[in-house]
Amino acid sequence: MTHPISLGLVGLGTIARNQHLPSLADTPALCLEAIASRNATLEGVACYSDIQHMLAGSDVAAISLCTPPQGRFEQAAAAIAVGRHVMLEKPPGASVSEVQALARLADARGVTLFSTWHSREAAAVEKARDLLATAEIKAVRISWREDVRHWHPGQEWIWQPGGLGVFDPGINALSILTRIMPEPIHLSRAMLEVPANKQAPIGAELQMLSASGTPIDAVFDWRQTGPQTWDIEIDTDNGSIVLRDGGATLHQDGTCLVAAKDEEYRRLYKRFAELIAAGQSEVDLAPMQLVADAFLLADYRQTDAFHD
Ligand code: NAP
Repeated sequence: MTHPISLGLVGLGTIARNQHLPSLADTPALCLEAIASRNATLEGVACYSDIQHMLAGSDVAAISLCTPPQGRFEQAAAAIAVGRHVMLEKPPGASVSEVQALARLADARGVTLFSTWHSREAAAVEKARDLLATAEIKAVRISWREDVRHWHPGQEWIWQPGGLGVFDPGINALSILTRIMPEPIHLSRAMLEVPANKQAPIGAELQMLSASGTPIDAVFDWRQTGPQTWDIEIDTDNGSIVLRDGGATLHQDGTCLVAAKDEEYRRLYKRFAELIAAGQSEVDLAPMQLVADAFLLADYRQTDAFHD
């Protein structure tokens, strides 16, 4: 049996604690040996105050970045420069061009760069992709509405440039969309609502088109209280296909075809180990490009100040 790949994790925040640590513990191909955190320590592993100290003091082969997107470029570039494989949380960076640069750096250094999209690993996504591969798609509607006060309390970075605002969750819908649709998608219109006291949108409406002209409409809203909504509805010549709960369940004409437990991050870490073993990278920027295009085409509406 081969040795597990040693891994260092950077940024011990919400997603690291809720998903990365338990998923790593369930991934025999990887072994968590170090963390870098400004504030926290973790029993049983080497603890460093930042990634620079980790890279200097530990010989972990792979790094998982769970920090906010702003600042990831410098962290990833430093890790790649000293020959470490890198896994990026979504969104992979603060801009499209910096992630393209990272992909070239990783390629030149001969290490793996894995730009993850955890929602693509939701249980029903591949089944939806299979169904759509042979269907005539007539229209797609995305509704991604959640309560920012519940999901992102105290996260200042999310409202700052590079933090994406409501696209931080919305990009998950776009990652599923760009996986399940058989054709390329482009943005045609965007309306972004930005609170007077923030630098990133709290709401967005996107109009997109497939290459053959299928209309795709998306609404992202961070002001949803009560039931939360992460749905994608697709009208086809063979009835309706509905992904709910962020891709966890799939219904066709009201019949449930898939409903399975959440394995998203376990699948991501398994894939990271496979990519390292195969000497490959995986960097798909299609979801991030749609978000960047939304800012390029944006019709801005200023809304009242929002206090989170
Ligand atoms: P978070 O709770 O704010 O945690 C981020 C961690 O990064 C902080 O706790 C901090 O850890 C470290 N950090 C380093 N520099 C920082 C800075 N300048 N400002 C703030 N934190 C800094 O954020 P998160 O929710 O875990 O999100 C991190 C990434 O995961 C984002 O890209 C997000 O889109 C993605 N993600 C989040 C969720 C979710 O539900 N929260 C789900 C999926 C993906 P130390 O104190 O240990 O240094």
